[in-house]
Amino acid sequence: MIFTVAIDGPAAAGKGTIGREIAARFGMRHLDTGLLYRAVGARTLRGEEAVAAARGLEAADLEGDLRRQDVAAAASRVAAVPEVRAALVDWQRGFARAAGGAVLDGRDIGTVICPEAEVKLYVTASPEVRAERRFAELAASDATLTREGVLEDVLARDARDMGRAEAPLVAAEDAVVLDTSTMSVEEAVGAAVAIVASALPAR
Ligand code: C5P
Repeated sequence: MIFTVAIDGPAAAGKGTIGREIAARFGMRHLDTGLLYRAVGARTLRGEEAVAAARGLEAADLEGDLRRQDVAAAASRVAAVPEVRAALVDWQRGFARAAGGAVLDGRDIGTVICPEAEVKLYVTASPEVRAERRFAELAASDATLTREGVLEDVLARDARDMGRAEAPLVAAEDAVVLDTSTMSVEEAVGAAVAIVASALPAR
């Protein structure tokens, strides 16, 4: 079966959780494409030029602490460079269309990487709700973090991701929009699972 679930949306909207749960539920493989950009961003923080970092990306780069705020900010900067995006396209497309079904989450999956995806979800939530979630996730490991700082970071990343010329973050015309602002994790996952289940071919 070739079946792609494309999940796009802004930072901390719940894409990753929803993507992982859908993959587990339907036995599909899952790719968090943000990790690719984070890995490139992390290499630039170590002094490498962004395009060379993207072209030289290795599996080992996807390990390590890529959740840090400085890595996220670097990721959204390198993600605006067309040659960086181009270097990562083929691998993502191969993953999306490999047999067995695949779930990819990111910013441009339904619009650029896999416009033919069988299911497209645009997962979003208000910036305040997303900042609160990110703060709760990161505060334990970083005592210097403040709510205001995290909200500023979320807004800055939104502006960069939505405002860039190349593959800006936007819902595909045929995407189902899921606003998780007032949903629990279980509700959001349940809604997404129902959408995928109704699109799967009868087995
Ligand atoms: O999803 P995550 O927060 O890990 O993504 C980090 C950054 O990588 C985003 O802010 C965005 O700039 C970039 N990104 C992208 N396209 C994707 C996935 C992530 O531009 N498909």
